[in-house]
Amino acid sequence: MSAQETQPLTVIPVARMQTAPQSAGNPCLRCGACCAHFRVSFYWAEADPSRGGTVPADLAEDLTPVLGCMKGTNQAHPRCAALIGEIGRGVRCAIYEGRPSPCREFGVEWTGEGLRFTPEDLARCTQARAAWGLPPLFDQPHPLPQLEGVTPPLKQAS
Ligand code: SF4
Ligand code: SF4
Repeated sequence: MSAQETQPLTVIPVARMQTAPQSAGNPCLRCGACCAHFRVSFYWAEADPSRGGTVPADLAEDLTPVLGCMKGTNQAHPRCAALIGEIGRGVRCAIYEGRPSPCREFGVEWTGEGLRFTPEDLARCTQARAAWGLPPLFDQPHPLPQLEGVTPPLKQAS
């Protein structure tokens, strides 16, 4: 995941992470909850190589006339078809270099020394982890914003 530069960013150092000492590395590699909780939708051309799209067409499906989504994420129990591994243990994205824009723009990012995040996306991270029975990444110092009123590129699947 990478952070949107236009949003406020906070960095939480490794020492403050809830899951330490295991958190000596990127916690996303031991999680994957957000890839199995939200609908991951994007402009359809992101899955069309003739238009510069990088998402393999066989891993995408139509959502609306203008939107596609990652296969497996528009269902009651979402799990992206590109996610490899076991949630909460060890995961990786099979198309990391070509993942769609919502994944690239998701504002929780491992910096090597800590976790950089936007408050809104950390709230989504916490929501996804809770849905999988995983604790928040760290003791959160301030109340996190409610998801209501936020219009994320990652939407909760229905
Ligand atoms: S839910 Fe949070 S910790 Fe888990 S993979 Fe997503 S961003 Fe990383
Ligand atoms: S494309 Fe990769 S990063 Fe995006 S939801 Fe699927 S597994 Fe996660």
